[in-house]
Amino acid sequence: MHSKRVNIIGGGLSGVECALYLADRGIDVTIYEMRPKKMTPAHRTGYLAEMVCSNSLKSEEITNAHGLLKAEMKILGSTLLSFAEKHRVPGGKALVVDRERFSRDITGFTEKVCQVIREERGIDELDGTVVVAGGPLASEKITHSLKKYTGEYLYFYDAVSPIVSSESIDMDWAFMGSRYGAGEDYINCPLTREEYYGFVEALLNAEKHIPHIKEDLFFEGCLPIEEMARRGKETLRFSLMKPVGLKIPEKFKNTFAIVQLRKENREGTMWNIVGFQTRLKIGEQKRVFRMIPCLKRAEFLRYGKIHRNTYINSPEVLDRYLKLMENVYVIGTLTGVEGYVEAMATGLLTGINIYREIIGKEPLLPPEGTMMRGLMNYLHDKKKDFQPMNANFGLLPPVHGRGKEKRKIAAVRAIRLIDEWRRDYGI
Ligand SMILES: Cc1cc2nc3c(=O)[nH]c(=O)nc-3n(C[C@H](O)[C@H](O)[C@H](O)COP(=O)(O)OP(=O)(O)OC[C@H]3O[C@@H](n4cnc5c(N)ncnc54)[C@H](O)[C@@H]3O)c2cc1C
Repeated sequence: MHSKRVNIIGGGLSGVECALYLADRGIDVTIYEMRPKKMTPAHRTGYLAEMVCSNSLKSEEITNAHGLLKAEMKILGSTLLSFAEKHRVPGGKALVVDRERFSRDITGFTEKVCQVIREERGIDELDGTVVVAGGPLASEKITHSLKKYTGEYLYFYDAVSPIVSSESIDMDWAFMGSRYGAGEDYINCPLTREEYYGFVEALLNAEKHIPHIKEDLFFEGCLPIEEMARRGKETLRFSLMKPVGLKIPEKFKNTFAIVQLRKENREGTMWNIVGFQTRLKIGEQKRVFRMIPCLKRAEFLRYGKIHRNTYINSPEVLDRYLKLMENVYVIGTLTGVEGYVEAMATGLLTGINIYREIIGKEPLLPPEGTMMRGLMNYLHDKKKDFQPMNANFGLLPPVHGRGKEKRKIAAVRAIRLIDEWRRDYGI
């Protein structure tokens, strides 16, 4: 039997979204939030659901992946998005909020409908159903207790390479093959001598992000590509861009260096630029990485970055419904989703499934073809190098069409599907 008390560790965006879904259905929820007694290096207040950096929940257009995700969540009754609407400030096509009012209002509301205990907790200290929502800067109590169940699959750093859409890769300037014929197939993007040195020069001069938090330093095992370039003009072509072990077609006989792209999902709609974790600003990533001939018109589904981020290898340790073990769920960025709205989405879905378990029904996944399902599939499908992921159209099954038109077809279908799902299951 499932306990009707739900304990949530972490009153951030995912934890509060989950809590409010359950509280609205009469479930007793306790949120353990360590702030303000113990702060994280990024939070500034003791409010619940604090947005730590930007005050934007990104685009509201459904042809934008974040816009579609929000549209789906609104249909499912996301409480945090309704608070965001209430506290919105002008922001063009984006849902931008007054962060201070937003989290202050949510805190007041949550304290009325849930029990909020301002204490730090670990998994093993709680009974009943436990939801772990400690976020990217989860305290040691969480990481200690998580490690017991995840072992080697708990990470503290996020070194993410950019991902481009398959249709935007110009295969006239690339060829397939794996180094020394082993393993999976890569897309290989050759560069001539001039192209290589031009690329290295651009990397060295590009604008970089300043880290958000002091201890956000990179480590030797996983250097940003621009740092490798800084160590010597030849460093890249003797390491991740080495043009060796490949059968290079005659038409690329002047190849001096090679960039490899690795398939990111089963469908092959998303390709990862191998080893290109970076601190370059987004505009600079577009400009500099498009200097690689086959990426001239690349559509970036995710940008590269490197920062401190605690997350687990969800495909290895969670089930399809984000369950770590009997009565214990993990949600938010700890699962390997990236971004405010994505974190809330995992909270909402877990709220739905915990409620269903309490009332004796089987857990559910949103239908294939929705952005929420795309994210859940990403967290479930095993991959060689699991890295956090944001909402993007590469997560949806392919549809016919081009550019924005194609995204519109996919988005309209997703909204119809989620609406039918909500009605069919009474969510
Ligand atoms: C510095 C930084 C900047 C970011 N900027 C953005 C951005 O601009 N836009 C964007 O979309 N995403 C951003 N993110 C990524 C991510 O979307 C947010 O961190 C988001 O808040 C994650 O939601 P969450 O619920 O997983 O975690 P959080 O919202 O961080 O919530 C986790 C909560 O758990 C609490 N907690 C931790 N350990 C314990 C414990 N043991 N016991 C009790 N409470 C505990 C924390 O105090 C916190 O309140 C940023 C992340 C970081 C680290």
